[in-house]
Amino acid sequence: MKLLVIGSGGREHALAWKLAQSPRVQFVYVAPGNGGTARDERLRNVPLTDLEELAEFAHKERVAFTVVGPEAPLAAGAVNLFRARGLKVFGPTREAAQLESSKDFAKAFMLRHKIPTAAYASFEDAQAAHRYVEAQGAPIVIKADGLAAGKGVVVATELAEAHAAIDTMLAEGAGARVVIEEFLSGEEASFIVMVDGKHILPLASSQDHKRLLERDAGPNTGGMGAYSPAPIVTPTLHARIMREIIVPTVQGMEQEGIRYTGFLYAGIMIDAQGNPKTLEFNCRLGDPETQPIMARLKGDFSNVIEHAIAGTLNQVELEWDRRTALGVVLAAHGYPAAPRKGDLIAGIPAQTEHIQTFHAGTALVDGRLVTAGGRVLCVVGLADSVRSAQLAVYDTINQIAFDGMQYRRDIGYRALNRKPLN
Ligand code: AMP
Repeated sequence: MKLLVIGSGGREHALAWKLAQSPRVQFVYVAPGNGGTARDERLRNVPLTDLEELAEFAHKERVAFTVVGPEAPLAAGAVNLFRARGLKVFGPTREAAQLESSKDFAKAFMLRHKIPTAAYASFEDAQAAHRYVEAQGAPIVIKADGLAAGKGVVVATELAEAHAAIDTMLAEGAGARVVIEEFLSGEEASFIVMVDGKHILPLASSQDHKRLLERDAGPNTGGMGAYSPAPIVTPTLHARIMREIIVPTVQGMEQEGIRYTGFLYAGIMIDAQGNPKTLEFNCRLGDPETQPIMARLKGDFSNVIEHAIAGTLNQVELEWDRRTALGVVLAAHGYPAAPRKGDLIAGIPAQTEHIQTFHAGTALVDGRLVTAGGRVLCVVGLADSVRSAQLAVYDTINQIAFDGMQYRRDIGYRALNRKPLN
């Protein structure tokens, strides 16, 4: 069979790479794809982004099913459209994707369903927002209400920063809204599950590194590296996150008349006492978490997605490589504020059993691989420990070069510093 993955990031490269490993899969179309998916002989780039054209393409090519990677086409109703055309597709509908596309919706939803999250207030009026942060004090968190590609959040350590963020975000025009949140301290983990409308199948735990610079300094980014499993997610904590966050979310959506299907990602903050709170929901796989997660997943993932589309996820068990997978993102000059494009990329080694380089912001121009976006590559290593996975990945990165390349040298440091768990 032929499959279609919509998107062009590292997440979509990893997803398509995994799906293409199935002996039942002839090849996977990636729309629009990137320089890496263009070079993989089991993947085929399709230069389309318009949803109507994609549905037409899926129909014409008899695509067995489509997976929608990024949030924008989900929020635009890609799943609604494909279903209306009788096409098989995995992802949340536009209505379900509000959990991500509106922070205000997500916060009010969590409040209604008693899902643990930071206290908040939401504002359209700048004066009222300024008064609120004055009353609350810093640190405080300011979030733009709509989709912002992981960049609409300012964790303000000082009031001046909070005021500036309010002004920037509300200057977007009529209808702009900010969510202002209590600052939560602790350690973050990514908890991703698959939902078929009824059954919930958790993927392996993972941890992202959101900040641009080492030791979690600098601005927030889409994510600079990730590893799986995340040792902070003990079996006890796993059970609590399912019971207190994931299950009430899926059931709460159903009670509100919205059947959730697709990947569901909860960003979790775990406080010093080990209590989990929800930072955010994403209605799709995380990027870069997907890259290490797919590297650890065993078996035929196309079969899992087929079950998810059919509503029979309860018949599936996932098998994971027991080793650690760790991925480091190589970003372009100027990322995240103003990434430069067009730098020539050299030295990406061939894939081995232990090392895989997933592409994101890359393009093939006249046969030459060049940077074409903020996050350019994600090098993933699989090894018996976090330390050896790190060594393998950084060794590989030493071979790769492009002008202005920036990356963190400490991905996985929390797992290394963590005391052994009982
Ligand atoms: P979000 O897109 O809502 O997950 O926010 C992006 C990042 O901002 C999170 O991964 C956290 O690192 C940080 N963040 C968001 N909300 C809070 C909060 N209430 N307290 C502390 N940090 C936060």
